[in-house]
Amino acid sequence: MIILENQNMGRYTTIGIGANAKILVIVESAKEITDIMNKHPNAKVIGNGSNILVANKVDIVIKLGPTLPSAKSLTYYRNKFAVEGKSGMEFSIGIPATLGGAIKTNAGGKYGSMSDVISTIVCLQNGKNIVHKPVFGYRHSDIEGIILDAQFKLRDDDPQNILSRSKDILYAKSNQQPLSQESAGCIFKNALNYSASYLIEESGFKGKLINNVQISGIHANFFHSTKTTTVTDILKTIDIVKEKVLKEMDIELIEEIEIW
Ligand SMILES: Cc1cc2nc3c(=O)[nH]c(=O)nc-3n(C[C@H](O)[C@H](O)[C@H](O)COP(=O)(O)OP(=O)(O)OC[C@H]3O[C@@H](n4cnc5c(N)ncnc54)[C@H](O)[C@@H]3O)c2cc1C
Repeated sequence: MIILENQNMGRYTTIGIGANAKILVIVESAKEITDIMNKHPNAKVIGNGSNILVANKVDIVIKLGPTLPSAKSLTYYRNKFAVEGKSGMEFSIGIPATLGGAIKTNAGGKYGSMSDVISTIVCLQNGKNIVHKPVFGYRHSDIEGIILDAQFKLRDDDPQNILSRSKDILYAKSNQQPLSQESAGCIFKNALNYSASYLIEESGFKGKLINNVQISGIHANFFHSTKTTTVTDILKTIDIVKEKVLKEMDIELIEEIEIW
């Protein structure tokens, strides 16, 4: 177990800025997680921090160390399964998530989502390992506790076909999303009949610098920080965008990112 004090959470989140954690613990086993949770039941868990903005100081954050299956990246699993001739994870190319974070948030999009490929998970709940069959919704799962591992449901296919599908999806995504720039992915969930990016674009924000936050010119639901952007700037920009979309489009945007 590695215990680090006063860690700036910008280092542990893909948006690159954030408040501090008093303590960040990197754990390598279920026993270590249980020990921490027994002492700090409100400790927060972070994967790759690609869906989180740490806006306020947090007391204790648990980061799962890379030896735990749920802390490995989707890239690791996608590549492993492709070589084994197991198809299903191609949709996940471009999503910079750990397996645990991706399952918890049911990450995905128009090419598929975690709910298509996960059958059961092993989850640590109240100090016990539980096998659970998750119920998934849009960017949501019913999972309580900490995901340790998962069982996949995949189809057999030729490795070359799998790799070529992943490549095609990456090509399509990289024309539609700013994958190489720091961000927390989509800030808002899509509304019932409209994508959030369409609503933001129609409200005039696409490609604009709003309150020191750069709204992507490629996909208006991605926000980027500049060298001087603060967490408060991002929170204010979220409010500005929500207010205008509500006023002009009569739709209330709901955050997809988690704000701690
Ligand atoms: C460039 C970019 C592209 C993106 N594209 C997409 C996309 O196409 N589709 C999409 O859905 N999202 C996308 N995202 C958002 C993000 O990658 C997903 O939400 C992802 O699933 C978050 O995984 P993570 O490991 O970073 O989790 P984190 O952001 O660290 O955590 C997310 C949530 O999961 C919880 N969590 C993390 N690990 C565990 C665990 N082991 N057990 C229990 N709970 C856990 C955390 O407490 C938190 O509540 C994108 C983000 C970026 C930066």
